[in-house]
Amino acid sequence: MRLFLTVISLLICCCAALAQQPQKYHKVLELMGSRFEISAFDADAQKAWDGINAAITEISRIERLISSWDPNSQTSLINRNAGIKPIKVDNELFQLIQRAVQISRITDGAFDISYASMDRIWKFDGSMKEMPDAEIVKEARSKIGFRNIQLNPAKLEVYLKVKGMKIGFGAIGKGYAAQKAKEKMSALGIKSGVVNAAGDLIAWGKDIDGESFKVGIADPRKKNHVLSWLKVNNTSVVTSGDYERYVLFDNVRYAHIIDPRTGYPTTGIKSVTIVSANPELADALSTSVFVLGIEKGLYLINQLQGVECLVITDNDEIVTSKHLEINNKS
Ligand code: AMP
Ligand code: MG
Repeated sequence: MRLFLTVISLLICCCAALAQQPQKYHKVLELMGSRFEISAFDADAQKAWDGINAAITEISRIERLISSWDPNSQTSLINRNAGIKPIKVDNELFQLIQRAVQISRITDGAFDISYASMDRIWKFDGSMKEMPDAEIVKEARSKIGFRNIQLNPAKLEVYLKVKGMKIGFGAIGKGYAAQKAKEKMSALGIKSGVVNAAGDLIAWGKDIDGESFKVGIADPRKKNHVLSWLKVNNTSVVTSGDYERYVLFDNVRYAHIIDPRTGYPTTGIKSVTIVSANPELADALSTSVFVLGIEKGLYLINQLQGVECLVITDNDEIVTSKHLEINNKS
């Protein structure tokens, strides 16, 4: 009888211990026009789902604020009033624009949210059959220029000085949303999680096996083939690739990233991955390195503390910044 009771109590202990083991809870859904995957690793299912739902609510809120497709967003209001009048916005949007302009300064204009006047000319959804007319490109290019984004911090007003100018957060918004989603989940006590916004990823804490998360960098031409692995903890890994959206003219592949100096899409790089604690910065810099090219891009990244980079060139050469540690095994 005593043996029986001991076995029962051992079983109960084991079950209790198992219930304490973190499990992976996750949801895949479309937000901000992209595939988001939100994961929480926790022993408490209710807490995990509360965290995931809070992240979804937060990302949707940010989308309503920054979307340039939604006519009701503050961003669209700014765009509609380009060359007409300044628009008062929420502090959050004002700060985001201010940070975006700072990134334009450090990248010498390679990153520029006012690239968006080009949205009407370059379409990367397969509908373009020929190169746009050079004059049309020139005209739209003349609307790009972060120096014409006038910011009034006292009044929280944003004014685009040139008529026809337009801003868009395609290169920074997903990183920003990933960071804010992580903050919401952490505030609810989720100690380990991953927010993956179509390849813009932030991971914190540990995987269910107690090890650091590992992120694979995909081969740009064979998506399911991992070229190298990065160990991440409280780190974001963000990739810009020419394989997501592009056009082909005369066998030259043009990525969906516009060089603000020329008004033409960039060529020559297959993918840029940035590793940094801050996903918003990583997002903006991955786009910037595409525009700057390998030499200038790596020069910039090597100056920035806590930021690393891996570039895959058109010739499949892999070039990394000074301190990036990568592993070819999973
Ligand atoms: P990403 O995938 O983060 O590199 O972002 C690419 C997206 O950023 C594009 O689809 C555009 O919406 C936007 N974009 C394109 N060129 C630029 C640029 N030079 N500066 C800022 N945003 C850009
Ligand atoms: Mg980006």
